[in-house]
Amino acid sequence: MALQLPASLTPSKVSTFKDCALVFRLSAIDKLPEPASLQAFKGTVVHRALELLMWEEQPGDRTPGAASVKLDRALEELRAGREGAELALSGADLEQFVTDARQLVSNYFVLEDPNQVRVMGTELRMQVDLGPPPDESHVPATSRLRLRGIIDRLEMDENDELVVTDYKTGRAPGQTHEQSRLGGVHFYAFLCEQVLGRRPVRVQLLHLREPLAISTTPSDQSITGLERQATAIWAAVKRACLLEDFRPKPGPLCDWCGYHAFCPAKGGDLALARAQAESIPRLGATVAPSQLLPLPAAG
Ligand code: SF4
Repeated sequence: MALQLPASLTPSKVSTFKDCALVFRLSAIDKLPEPASLQAFKGTVVHRALELLMWEEQPGDRTPGAASVKLDRALEELRAGREGAELALSGADLEQFVTDARQLVSNYFVLEDPNQVRVMGTELRMQVDLGPPPDESHVPATSRLRLRGIIDRLEMDENDELVVTDYKTGRAPGQTHEQSRLGGVHFYAFLCEQVLGRRPVRVQLLHLREPLAISTTPSDQSITGLERQATAIWAAVKRACLLEDFRPKPGPLCDWCGYHAFCPAKGGDLALARAQAESIPRLGATVAPSQLLPLPAAG
């Protein structure tokens, strides 16, 4: 029996599939939640704090003090969620968590002056379907490729051109991994062009830990390359679903993987995954609406 295809591909699903196909299956198809991680939770809190700062505060009011207040609010909101409840931070652990998160937010101000940024949107959810519509090609809707992504921030530069910004709270990739991480960036450029009808002139990654900014200019070549790569990965996912063949790929990422109990390479039992997946109630997704201002006409 073939496995059900995932509903879409996102930048993180693409990199998960390339890193370890079994993790892709367990997270994107079986939808087994990984245990909450301190690092991931910190990233979520810092993203939310910066979203609140850039969306709610006007230029001139985006100060380190305002950012600190947003961070407190973000932490309060998110501690009530699944990850926050599971981690149940308190005492010295909570203190250390807040100190580290404050440092990341403070590092953000080293990378740019937020008062100079013309924010047009934050947390923008975009999706695009690739390939001919089902009624024209008789392709079943479920086998078409849907690309989805959330753009942390969309802004206008001084020439009224679009710029996409993505915040990163983990370590910046070494030179050898930089190109593969920039693949996610081209993904955002592609979505932006398809959904808004305008290609961003720049996509930047703001690595808050170092702090370090990496930026790239999307081109015809990078956009075509992204589409080709996403189509190839989707073909590989379809094949793996049909054959139920998502192989583990042991490597350095195993140290951070929460699926050892299901991974044959770690002595786990994959049969447990299906049983556990079937026992999880599927709730309707709750999605915060995207925030986007009307864009000025292209120059
Ligand atoms: S433990 Fe390693 S090989 Fe196994 S699923 Fe996780 S990342 Fe893949």
